[in-house]
Amino acid sequence: MSRFAMFQRGGLWLFSILVLLTGLVDASAESAAVAFRYETSDGARSAQLEPIEKDEISYVSLVSLVRQLGGGLRTIDRRIQVDFASQTAWILGNTNEITASRGRFTLGHHVILDDGDVLIAVVDVIPLFNTAFQVSVTLPAEPRAAAVAAPPVPGEEAATEVTSPTSPPTQGRVQTAVLDPGHGGRDMGAEGSGLKEKDLALSLCRRMKRALEDSLGVKVLLTREEDKDASAADRTAVANRSHGDIFISLHVGARYGNSPAGIVIYCFPAREKKRPASDSSPTGPSRSLPGYRFAGQSRRLGSAIADALKQNLSDTTCHVRELPCRVLRDTTMPSVLVEVSPLSNAEQAARLSEADFQSKFLGTLVAGIRQYIASLSTERQAP
Ligand SMILES: [Zn+2]
Repeated sequence: MSRFAMFQRGGLWLFSILVLLTGLVDASAESAAVAFRYETSDGARSAQLEPIEKDEISYVSLVSLVRQLGGGLRTIDRRIQVDFASQTAWILGNTNEITASRGRFTLGHHVILDDGDVLIAVVDVIPLFNTAFQVSVTLPAEPRAAAVAAPPVPGEEAATEVTSPTSPPTQGRVQTAVLDPGHGGRDMGAEGSGLKEKDLALSLCRRMKRALEDSLGVKVLLTREEDKDASAADRTAVANRSHGDIFISLHVGARYGNSPAGIVIYCFPAREKKRPASDSSPTGPSRSLPGYRFAGQSRRLGSAIADALKQNLSDTTCHVRELPCRVLRDTTMPSVLVEVSPLSNAEQAARLSEADFQSKFLGTLVAGIRQYIASLSTERQAP
């Protein structure tokens, strides 16, 4: 319904409310706009998209994304044809099934046919392009993320933390950790080689709970203890009620197709840092979101885990990237989303189901958290 039609129907008061609401949505949407970058041999293209929230998941328009990145998209009934980088992939609308020249794979969420538009979950964009077209589509913040993941320059990171006006005071301890097994219930997540993401994420989180309790003496809560539906709001409610000190969401994606196994650690974007120093305007609704307030500490947690993974799992690539998703935005504690890939590659799926690999991976996550805790106490002792 257009704003004008609403005006005619509801009168001036409704129009006023709508303008106010639109203003708020615009304000937060502007700062939470999702951007992607496509690197080609003749330069880079970028796309800027407004996120659309549906059932607690952030989507963007695939039609707009593909066009902005220089490809073509058309829909014929439920079939969506995407032409990109001289290749074609087909998506069956309202499913997560993709058929590309390299074979078939599934995304974490359904691609939705929505009134002439096609919506793709933000978390599925990079897997789609990387797997279907073997091209490098990234979040533009990646170079900065990579720099954060590199060994810190002494003093530099601490300085960033202290000067960040929105960073809450560091507690210097981790008493409670919240683990969030991705998906659950009707939401299977990625599937491949007879494995379901929702099951693997839950079993990994259960094992990690024991490992964290035994080796670090940390109290651990799971956002879901069994195979059941859990929205982003449910998950953040459990985490925030528990007054957790860290939040780790665990996913096993269909990420890279035939490319080497990789682990990506996502943090909520720290966009408030881009405001000019002269901007002294009061904190708006988006800037006060927990994701922004805890961005510095979330980065530190993500970097500590990434460092541990690079040391202990040297045959696995590990990146730290930004992701504007709801569980990272709404949890009132340092939060990261760890995505291990992929289930779509049979060899790597088999490795993921091996007890040995799981132990090494989980042990490394625990080592990363230990490193993060150590960095907090170092900061507390510093003059
Ligand atoms: Zn997932």
